[in-house]
Amino acid sequence: MTATAFDSLRLPVELLDNLHTLGYHQMTPVQAESLPPMLEGRDVLALAKTGSGKTAAFGLALLAGLDASAFRVERLVLCPTRELAEQVADELRRLARGLANVKVLTLCGGQPMGPQLASLAHGANIVVGTPGRIDEHLRKGSLTIDTLRMLVLDEADRMLDMGFQAEIDAIVAATPASRQTLLFSATFAGLDEGDDAQLSQGLDVVRNPVVVRVAERH
Ligand code: ADP
Ligand code: MG
Repeated sequence: MTATAFDSLRLPVELLDNLHTLGYHQMTPVQAESLPPMLEGRDVLALAKTGSGKTAAFGLALLAGLDASAFRVERLVLCPTRELAEQVADELRRLARGLANVKVLTLCGGQPMGPQLASLAHGANIVVGTPGRIDEHLRKGSLTIDTLRMLVLDEADRMLDMGFQAEIDAIVAATPASRQTLLFSATFAGLDEGDDAQLSQGLDVVRNPVVVRVAERH
């Protein structure tokens, strides 16, 4: 595969400058395949192994069209664990460094509610969290996602394995039908051609997705 520069994408110049500062010049394969359809507004289901750059793939898509002048939750990223949510939020903050007024808020279980409620009262553009706690905030009314434009399910297979289907269903039901949905997952040894269909069926959240599958070769 030929290397593809981030410069070939129609990304805001502040984001491109920031990528250069971070030392990201060439897209990884999953980024090169998933970013064009994501930037066109398509739903994407991407399967690629751990360490292949999935966070920056969906992260750039989330940041590219963000209207940070409107201080409302436009993007939500669901992750299986607090540790992963914090890693994703850190990467989003790094990627967003050149952009003005982008507030990334993490909402995870096992953390006290008070500071989360205080942060929510101040508002955010991007929320990253675990399904249980996000669902809890929706029930309490402390988080509303009726202005959501993009939903990401990161490590979707793990969230299902951990039994988060009901919480994910409740969260999805609270989003506008017009949202764009991005589902990212790692591949496993023995993954067969049917698994991506099963994954999206199990979650039933992506519509007519572009399927990106980066083969593992050792
Ligand atoms: P995954 O979610 O697929 O497991 P990550 O998103 O955590 O992978 O990325 C793995 C590492 O690769 C991170 O340290 C990240 O900073 C780095 N990375 C991602 N994209 C690029 C890129 N295009 N160029 C250089 N490094 C990158
Ligand atoms: Mg990841």
